[in-house]
Amino acid sequence: MFRDLRRKRQALSPQACADVLARGTSGVLAVAGDGGYPYAVPLSFLYDGGKLYFHCARAGHKLDAIRRDPRASFCVIDQDQVVPAEYTSYFRSVIAFGQVRILDSEEEIRQAVEKLALKYAPEDSSSNRQSAIQREWDSLCMLEMTVEHLSGKEAVELARLRPEGQE
Ligand SMILES: Cc1cc2nc3c(=O)[nH]c(=O)nc-3n(C[C@H](O)[C@H](O)[C@H](O)COP(=O)(O)OP(=O)(O)OC[C@H]3O[C@@H](n4cnc5c(N)ncnc54)[C@H](O)[C@@H]3O)c2cc1C
Repeated sequence: MFRDLRRKRQALSPQACADVLARGTSGVLAVAGDGGYPYAVPLSFLYDGGKLYFHCARAGHKLDAIRRDPRASFCVIDQDQVVPAEYTSYFRSVIAFGQVRILDSEEEIRQAVEKLALKYAPEDSSSNRQSAIQREWDSLCMLEMTVEHLSGKEAVELARLRPEGQE
């Protein structure tokens, strides 16, 4: 059901896709929104153990959409270097398809939010991190996306710089 890239030379390896997700700080989650309109919403995220995690409030458009239909895709742009002289962009991006689950056990939520907090504020002290989490705890919702299909693509100009056989 999921498609492969038509331009294979531009495909990123699974490791290169994972690297993009590890260093990315935001992406766009696309869900089936109200009235049949796709709803694409920007979010911070964590990629851990092959899964994507998001934090959000306990109500809203994206949560309603996920409750109706857990299927989603998430896109992260790693690079968008516009090259005016060539009328192009030296881009690199990753798209994940999967199912989103609203975490319900306190242990799962805590584990995910602690790792997310560590990703975004790695220098902060453990006690500050814990108080920040505690402050938000009552209104916090954590989402987990199990990735079913992952692809990455970069501009042909970047792909040409790679040694043959190395994505
Ligand atoms: C780089 C970045 C990182 C973010 N990280 C997070 C995060 O980790 N967690 C989080 O909860 N939120 C984050 N946000 C905010 C996020 O995009 C949503 O605004 C928020 O999650 C609320 O979503 P909702 O569907 O519940 O909004 P609702 O308030 O229910 O949305 C109602 C309507 O408001 C509009 N809307 C909502 N969000 C946006 C938006 N960002 N831009 C324009 N219109 C909008 C849409 O038309 C939507 O249908 C981030 C935003 C950016 C740009």
